Amino acid sequence: MNKNNSSRLFPMAKKVMPGGVNSPVRAFNAVGGDPLFIKRAKGSRIIDVDNNEFIDYVASWGPLIFGHAHPEIVNAIARQAELGSSYGASTELEIQLAEKVVQAVPSIELVRMVSSGTEAVMSALRLARGITRRDKILKFEGCYHGHSDSLLVKAGSGLVSLGIPECPGIVSSLAEKTLNLPYNNITKVRELFENEGKEIAALIVEPIGGNMGVVPPKPGFLEALREITKKAGALLIFDEVITGFRVSLGGAQKLYGVTPDITCLGKIIGGGLPVGAYGGSRQVMDHISPVGSIYQAGTLSGNPLAMAAGNVMLDLLSKEGVYESLEEKSAKLCKGLKQNVVDLGIQAQFTRVGSMFSMFFTSKEIVDFETVKSSNTDLFKRYFNGLLGEGVYIAPSQFEAGFMSAVHTDEEIDLTIEASRKALNAAQG
Ligand SMILES: *Cc1c(COP(=O)(O)O)cnc(C)c1O
Repeated sequence: MNKNNSSRLFPMAKKVMPGGVNSPVRAFNAVGGDPLFIKRAKGSRIIDVDNNEFIDYVASWGPLIFGHAHPEIVNAIARQAELGSSYGASTELEIQLAEKVVQAVPSIELVRMVSSGTEAVMSALRLARGITRRDKILKFEGCYHGHSDSLLVKAGSGLVSLGIPECPGIVSSLAEKTLNLPYNNITKVRELFENEGKEIAALIVEPIGGNMGVVPPKPGFLEALREITKKAGALLIFDEVITGFRVSLGGAQKLYGVTPDITCLGKIIGGGLPVGAYGGSRQVMDHISPVGSIYQAGTLSGNPLAMAAGNVMLDLLSKEGVYESLEEKSAKLCKGLKQNVVDLGIQAQFTRVGSMFSMFFTSKEIVDFETVKSSNTDLFKRYFNGLLGEGVYIAPSQFEAGFMSAVHTDEEIDLTIEASRKALNAAQG
């Protein structure tokens, strides 16, 4: 694979941007080699500046469930751009998208649009703290909720009641308010709530773990979180920035039948443009300014280009059979990948919910961050680079999800399975 142009651009990028990137994982640190610089993409294919073409399972980290540059989304953006890209005032497009969100997502009666997932989660936390007049929050190890201060915290070795700021710059008095527990461990959640439940403003969870690779919730886990938080007067926040509109039109809450107090959205809702959103019941959301006193604002919130793209995205997703087809394709791909590792005698675990999936190089059953971390990352690194050479682009880290789109074809899935077999064979050797 020729990487001349990417390798020429990377040093130039590093001269003017930290690490040469605008988001750390793009630097390919976990897999070695210079990162790819992309020049265009269409449908399921992404093409770099050296004209290498890849079947793409990153999908811009999740948003592009209808592939790159879908004609209807492109048209909607172009049409709106002619009419103006931002007004800083209300538009009908915002109402239309909000109506679609309210109709699709069970827990949402009112929704506020923002510009990123980080902003959605940060605002949801402020709302929960403002309503409950409590400071503490509980999250789970390995769950990512954007980069706001309260959420970049992980508990050190077993210290669950004291957050330790791993990232310099986070005020320790704030970090102490963030509690961490292992995903899927309901016993520990119960224990923690027995001791300090009355101080906890909110429990935030990815209803399907997606940022340590895919870690599905054990049966009963989400239901128990609902019951425990309710009893303690704490709010339950589902961070559905990945799972919203991904695992069903109503997200993970619809799939599992568990209704949170606040839902955070992002990624797919923007149709590939920068959008986030948070919503809940009218009772909860009326605490937000200008009705209530909890302040949150945004110059580009509800941006017309983004609303236009989001509206088309949700229309496309509302069509008959979309999720059934995503399920079939994803099942087909994972079945093939699994057969490969069986044939080659490689230890691997597969996790999947709908069109989000992971392959972990470990013999341990995947239930939380500890088991995820047992994966052989050297093998992954060789596998990733082998796959690139075979024309398949997956996320450059063992600890990220793969995403199927509605425009991947059966033929491309067969090609991917074949590429994966070759890459595995070489990586193992
Ligand atoms: C991507 C993501 C975020 C952050 O969204 P940004 O748009 O990158 O700020 C938050 N939560 C989850 C679950 C995510 O996957």
